[in-house]
Amino acid sequence: MLFGKEELVFDLPENEAPIRLMAECDVEKPDFKAYYGEDRVRHLPLNLPNLSEPQVARHYTNMSARNFGNDNGPYLLGSCTMKYNPKLHEKLASLAGFTSTHPYQADETVQGNLQLYYELEKQLCDVCGMDAFTFQPAAGAHGELTGIMLIKAYHEDHGHPERNIMLIPDSAHGTNPASAVMAGFKVVEVASAENGQVDIEDMRSKIEKHRDQLAGLMLTNPNTLGIFEEQVDAMTTMVHDAGGLIYYDGANINAILMQVRPGDMGFDVVHLNVHKSFSTPHGGGGPGAGPVGVKECLVPYLPKPRVLKKDDKYALEYNLPKSIGKVRAFTGSFLVCLKTYCYILGNGAEGLKNASEGAVANANYIFRRIKDRFKVPHDNPVMHEFVISGDWQKEKGCSTMDMAKRMIDYGMHPPTVYFPLIVHEAMMFEPTETETKENLDLVADTMLKIADEVENNPEVVQSAPHNTPVGRPDEVKAAREPILKYPEK
Ligand SMILES: *Cc1c(COP(=O)(O)O)cnc(C)c1O
Repeated sequence: MLFGKEELVFDLPENEAPIRLMAECDVEKPDFKAYYGEDRVRHLPLNLPNLSEPQVARHYTNMSARNFGNDNGPYLLGSCTMKYNPKLHEKLASLAGFTSTHPYQADETVQGNLQLYYELEKQLCDVCGMDAFTFQPAAGAHGELTGIMLIKAYHEDHGHPERNIMLIPDSAHGTNPASAVMAGFKVVEVASAENGQVDIEDMRSKIEKHRDQLAGLMLTNPNTLGIFEEQVDAMTTMVHDAGGLIYYDGANINAILMQVRPGDMGFDVVHLNVHKSFSTPHGGGGPGAGPVGVKECLVPYLPKPRVLKKDDKYALEYNLPKSIGKVRAFTGSFLVCLKTYCYILGNGAEGLKNASEGAVANANYIFRRIKDRFKVPHDNPVMHEFVISGDWQKEKGCSTMDMAKRMIDYGMHPPTVYFPLIVHEAMMFEPTETETKENLDLVADTMLKIADEVENNPEVVQSAPHNTPVGRPDEVKAAREPILKYPEK
């Protein structure tokens, strides 16, 4: 309501910037200048194209046909837990009762939304073996930052502000060290061993060296090579004994859902990329959510407000004196969390277990079928994803990028390429847990066919893709200097 005369300032909890709304609509003569200030009022009319409905419909239909998504074929992007996202969840998340609520509505008027958060918190605690969750963080990386800010608050509150060293394995996702630095920690890298797991002796020596300053460890399990860290108990015990806390990067939880729980493996704080593991299509930069779960010892520092239940009523609690404060406006990406809730209820415990088993079985199936034709960093069973190297093909003149582009010609989305950094010419495959055996065979057959082409007809691989409207964009330039505007006529 931007029209009118009389201004209403909502009565808001402490620390929230007041929003100013105007009541008593005077639609005839809205006084924008008085409201916004002379210098902010636009003077030029909006330059909108004048198009008919069919023109617009064709434009978007044609654009979508040039795109490749999960609805077109296998989508093998690794480290993203690319999973089945039921269409029903989109429908539920667009119900007017959810979409038309406003974050500044009084608690009594949004009891249903608050109840959903409250119940989802209990479910995620149960799934992860944690004691409480916050829903504020916007994505995984934001969850990391929030989680290690909690670790920092814990050490400061316990009289140890000098604990500022964060151990991070060299196989970690790049966001881990970035988050640690942003939160004010010094990163000490831990090496990987021959078997693709953390080198436990290297970790032991780094803990010894930094014992008095150790703040904690950030670990991903299964790690970004798709390998389960078998020494996780020894690692968490060592770090706890040295006074540190342990962060679980939950981006790969799809692999272990309902099999083991981060809380039982000794982790104190965990983030979930619910846009990866619990519905909501990932990729393309849409909204996500990175709920953070903690053990009892970190509960006092959680961001505020928290959703609490008092006398059968749900309420946002702001009175949390040790809280690190807010990390994001309002309570987080509500509609994304809603889809998480749908995913958990829709699957039930048995369905979630099936999802992790399907993810692991599918990855191992493709890996077994193709591993002899590619150099593999580790020839052990994998979890939900696996990594191969294009080194042998590179020697024959075809890079990993060439092979990834060739896959597009065969109707599938390429895997993640050149990650993790510790593997040369890496290709990281993560087949969705719902892919049929027919589709898994299609992926495996395609990779074997491409390996043959590298031997017999390398040009066709080097010049791929052949059937797409765009072939090989300059990806760095596209990311750093995007053109986001139609050229002016
Ligand atoms: C995706 C991912 C992240 C970052 O999560 P975002 O939701 O993309 O911010 C962190 N760690 C791992 C292992 C990941 O795969």
